[in-house]
Amino acid sequence: MRSWSGPDVPSIGGRAPELRIHDTRTNGLVASTPEGVARLYVCGITPYDATHIGHAATYLAFDLLQRQWLDRGLDVDYTQNVTDVDDPLLERANDTGEDWTALAEREIQMFREDMQALGMVAPRHYVGAVESIDLVAGLVERLGDSVYPVDGDLYFDVHADPDFGQVSGLDEETMLALFGERGGDPDRPGKKHPLDCLLWQAPREGEPSWDSRLGPGRPGWHIECAAIALEHLGTDFDVQGGGSDLVFPHHEMSASEATVATGEPFAQAFVHAGMVALDGEKMSKSKGNLELVSRLRENGHDPMAIRLALLGHHYRSNWEWTAADLASGEQRLDAWRAAVSRAETASGEELVGRLREVLADDLDAPTALSIVDAWAADEGTDASGGATVKDAVDALLGVRL
Ligand code: ZN
Repeated sequence: MRSWSGPDVPSIGGRAPELRIHDTRTNGLVASTPEGVARLYVCGITPYDATHIGHAATYLAFDLLQRQWLDRGLDVDYTQNVTDVDDPLLERANDTGEDWTALAEREIQMFREDMQALGMVAPRHYVGAVESIDLVAGLVERLGDSVYPVDGDLYFDVHADPDFGQVSGLDEETMLALFGERGGDPDRPGKKHPLDCLLWQAPREGEPSWDSRLGPGRPGWHIECAAIALEHLGTDFDVQGGGSDLVFPHHEMSASEATVATGEPFAQAFVHAGMVALDGEKMSKSKGNLELVSRLRENGHDPMAIRLALLGHHYRSNWEWTAADLASGEQRLDAWRAAVSRAETASGEELVGRLREVLADDLDAPTALSIVDAWAADEGTDASGGATVKDAVDALLGVRL
């Protein structure tokens, strides 16, 4: 397993309210009240490109979620994968002539550095696809009759899960369109149903493959996440998370595969972060409209200002990154730091209570920021309680002042 270290999250005492979070499957707020241990799976990157602001916004949403659970005194078992072999990575390496493993390792290292700089709590299990080949083969075997071959590859009959479609709630026409746009192969001849998804790909000329109980090949993407999540978190874990572009097909397919294999629900809630646009379109390498975290850091921007710029938007909203976001993050950071240094002993127990309340209501960071803004404008003269504002802002928002 790959290692990763993150910040220590201070404990601020007092009672944290019950968290309510938006669940895509039920399309409403659900209470998230694990006991003892909270189990979170967030889909990781395919390491062929540097971390952009859209990635950072997604991982920040789940960082806020973890901080809610930590504030309630829970142990958070956080698992994230990294798809360290997949078509986009091999294609990029092929285009540039670089060794694909060197490309992957460089981008993984850059991603971790960006996440650390932004103060993200580290995953306990950070697991690659390549090291999970045996896990994937074992899970494919458990799928039994719902697996069938197409020209040497193995496919999953999605309708083996009677609940298929319930995570996204989409109609079949929309599913087919999204499946085609997002890496699926609805038109491949020999499949029983156009939505059936790849489990295991037989070796291709010039591509890497691994020996397994299924024969040589490499894993499909959806089964990779299902296998890693089940191994490290078990079934029916608390939250499956990712960007909203993963709702379908990725999260739908992973959940169906896991449910058919185990007979149990995959996750209790499916939580999704909105998309960040740049220049009017979703950020993507192919369109060339990327704002990279590493570039902002290289240009001397304080990672905490970048974090504040992202926190200014609710995690579920779709929004467009502009220079004004960064400017307001920097302004806010200066104002908060000045207030904290003016009011060294100020505590603001009431402020902590209000912060907890708005964040427990589906992670409403923008309102949390305005509460701290009002305190900072007041020059931090409220010195009525125990915990300090500085610690609360660190613990709940991950902003180090
Ligand atoms: Zn995933």
